[in-house]
Amino acid sequence: MVSTGTPDTTSTQEAVVQAVPKQLFIDGGWVDAEGGKRFDVLDPSTGEVLCSVADASPADGRKALDAAVAAQASFAATSPRERADMLMRAFDLLHERIDDLARLMTLEMGKPLAEAKGEISYAAEFLRHFAGEAVRINGGYQVAPAGGSRFLVTRQPVGPCLLITPWNFPMAMGTRKIGPAIAAGCTSVIKPAHQTPLSMLAFIDILREAGVPDGVVNCVTAMDSGGVMEPLIRSGLARKLSFTGSTKVGKILLEQCAEHVLRTSMELGGNAPFIVFEDADLDEAVQGAMAAKMRNMGEACTAANRIYVHESVIDDFGKRLAETMAGLTVGRGVDEGTTVGPLIDDAAQNKVSELVADAVERGAELLTGGQTPDGAGYFYPPTVLTGVSKDARMATEEIFGPVAPLTPFSEEEEAIKAANDTEFGLVAYVYTNDLRRSLRVAEALESGMVGLNQGVVSNPAAPFGGVKQSGLGREGGPTGIDEFLETKYIGITM
Ligand code: NAP
Repeated sequence: MVSTGTPDTTSTQEAVVQAVPKQLFIDGGWVDAEGGKRFDVLDPSTGEVLCSVADASPADGRKALDAAVAAQASFAATSPRERADMLMRAFDLLHERIDDLARLMTLEMGKPLAEAKGEISYAAEFLRHFAGEAVRINGGYQVAPAGGSRFLVTRQPVGPCLLITPWNFPMAMGTRKIGPAIAAGCTSVIKPAHQTPLSMLAFIDILREAGVPDGVVNCVTAMDSGGVMEPLIRSGLARKLSFTGSTKVGKILLEQCAEHVLRTSMELGGNAPFIVFEDADLDEAVQGAMAAKMRNMGEACTAANRIYVHESVIDDFGKRLAETMAGLTVGRGVDEGTTVGPLIDDAAQNKVSELVADAVERGAELLTGGQTPDGAGYFYPPTVLTGVSKDARMATEEIFGPVAPLTPFSEEEEAIKAANDTEFGLVAYVYTNDLRRSLRVAEALESGMVGLNQGVVSNPAAPFGGVKQSGLGREGGPTGIDEFLETKYIGITM
């Protein structure tokens, strides 16, 4: 179904895009890139240029890191309450401007307006969460087991951080890092993805308004991310890298971090299994699969990538899922009524279409979708495939699109074995009404997170992260701030 909603007017688009600073943010000021270099930002729903932003050189990156290094000592000395207040002011400003920020995000990234608003609330929630954590950084005082001496344990900011974020959640993946960095007293340089720099630039301006001191958060936008970031990682001046993106790039960055033994947080790729047992409530399971699959048009690390359904209910489940998917409205995210926006670029569109063709060649049956539409924009229709074989490419590769592949199973052990048969381990979903089975299966799944009768697990107050090649460390939750703190023990002779 194609959107017939009210089209967004060009003037509203121009106003929100125009309002965003499009330079580099270094040491509290907006500056041009070396030589005035710029690159274009595209609207994935039309393929047209929205605007251009500064294209940082390695020298610009170094200036940003130097500013972060210079600001570190004074920022570490600010009170936790001051840092919490900065975060809460930014939280308020995000909510005040949610409509314009959502439109901006939709224009550069494609997701429907309602989802963009949802992301901005989610992004803001990390600021509120870490404002609370800032004032609860604790330590300890202990008598040594043999008596005599005492242990004093305190926690200090790690130091200047490098933060790299992907395009699929252009604001929330940033606040999930900047929030705890500020709370802990760390300065940083953030580099957003080249496809979606505008949301981060708008947020950086909000941080400036919220009173974050000069040099504390710096932002570089660049086309040559490796060329700009590698010298910073290898400089020995930064103490930490927090990265969200693909496992492939994460591995390259881990090698670079080894040179100076940087602390790392790695939020990497996923290949989430979604298991539906025969005793599950099928209406709830379909709803959960829609949420786990279609959030962000399937362009999420948490997206259900392989859906295993008990053989006794797979036909019914497949029919209901295909009907629900076919009822979605594909269109420009800014148009009223759109529920599925475009994919991020032509490479993403081509990949999804290749994966579907490959699965069909290997015997899968299309229940709905499966045809790349003609015309402008990188659209792909909601698609359901059943009978997807385990040697299909989509069984091992992240689809990152609105495609739900169903595979039947007969025994619980078989489903667990199939679910764990991947190098990834971010999240898994299980639908069953059997309490014992739910806990048994949740414990057996090799993933950092499990959704039990629940299709979305992301919550700023919960520890988000993966095992195996899905990453290192946890973001958000009670331990998210630990990623930005070092523990120091002081031994005292009495
Ligand atoms: P990506 O290609 O790995 O890029 C992520 C970020 O790294 C972008 O800012 C990118 O900049 C930058 N980058 C790429 N190559 C680099 C290099 N050699 N040195 C330094 N920076 C480099 O991933 P993506 O396609 O943007 O995002 C999708 C991936 O992210 C998926 O695998 C998804 O599962 C994962 N993800 C994981 C989580 C999580 O929490 N686990 C959350 C969201 C997404 P450019 O724009 O210049 O390429």
